[in-house]
Amino acid sequence: MSNKDLSIYIHYPFCKSKCPYCDFNSHVRDQVNYDQFLESYEKELEFFYNKTDHNKVKTIFFGGGTPSLMPISLVDGILKKISQLWQIDENCEITLEANPTSSESAKFKDLKNIGINRLSIGIQALDDKDLKFLGREHSSLEAIHTIENAAKTFDNFSFDLIYARPNQSLQKWEKELETAINFGTKHLSLYQLTIEKGTKFFSQFSRGEFQMPDENLAAEFYDLTNEITAKSGFENYEISNYCRQNYSCKHNLVYWQGGDYIGIGAGAHSRVYFKSKTERKAIFMIHEPNLWLKKVSEKCVGIQKIEKISETELLEELILMGLRLNQGIDDHIFLNHFNKNLKELIDFDKLKNLKEQGYLEVAANNIKITKQGRILTNSIIKEVLKYV
Ligand code: SF4
Repeated sequence: MSNKDLSIYIHYPFCKSKCPYCDFNSHVRDQVNYDQFLESYEKELEFFYNKTDHNKVKTIFFGGGTPSLMPISLVDGILKKISQLWQIDENCEITLEANPTSSESAKFKDLKNIGINRLSIGIQALDDKDLKFLGREHSSLEAIHTIENAAKTFDNFSFDLIYARPNQSLQKWEKELETAINFGTKHLSLYQLTIEKGTKFFSQFSRGEFQMPDENLAAEFYDLTNEITAKSGFENYEISNYCRQNYSCKHNLVYWQGGDYIGIGAGAHSRVYFKSKTERKAIFMIHEPNLWLKKVSEKCVGIQKIEKISETELLEELILMGLRLNQGIDDHIFLNHFNKNLKELIDFDKLKNLKEQGYLEVAANNIKITKQGRILTNSIIKEVLKYV
């Protein structure tokens, strides 16, 4: 069954340099043909417009890469095309990810004037030594200036920080996080540093060039993070995301709650019902930007593969993502996709153990992981998935 609200993700695949921990689809280029990019994004928007029958766009998200490197005319061109094709909800959340360099910060006012109403800034650390270790192009002072400028321009802005870094002490993190909160942001994404295969950090870590905090210390970091954010009035609404009331990221909630979204640009993906089709599609765009451009110029869309999502896969996905949310998973999401409620889809009797251990709260129309179970989220999700 199709949900008639649509979310749109735009991937801009370029960065000034490649951070050593990053496994996103990001590339470094001296020159980018912006006209060709705009034309290609427009073609992909038209492709999806013709394939779907959604009424309204609820959220738009420019991610990357570093979309704050896009010229204003490119962002504006994409937004104009979206509004030519679809009706835009009057409360549409329109986010753009930015990096904290002065040239990007100088664009904030123009971005606001063309319709961006939420910024997500990749701060990552407020410590110069660690910023260098993380391969970031900015200093802590630049980060602070950027946050101050964002606060002057946008009511709704968020920033990311990475914690549990090599040699970071709990005391230092506490101070850093408190400093961050004092800038008045309404939303924070706080991630533990993880070492992903294929990254520069993966090779350096394998060669023993740095040590990572062990599991116990990492758990202490997580607890401390939750304690400080809760004390400051933030809700930990998703495992790594914290917000003040009414400032959750609506776009990400669409991913986590099984809403329909289309992704345009190199390496973007979509999960959406096509017109009059009963099964949901997963669509993956070609990763490499030049190959993507070439395919779009030939076929009007840069699809690498398109798959049908089976009912079981969809159910597993909804549980996997929904249980990461503080509010857990509700009946209405399942009724929307399957016309069945939770009890018909999950064997509630089998969840008794997790409930008795205090890890899971099970109500007739909702399942959620308890505060105590949060640190074991991945294992709890694995266990629940056995009973679908
Ligand atoms: S700026 Fe972001 S997307 Fe670009 S390389 Fe660094 S972490 Fe990856």
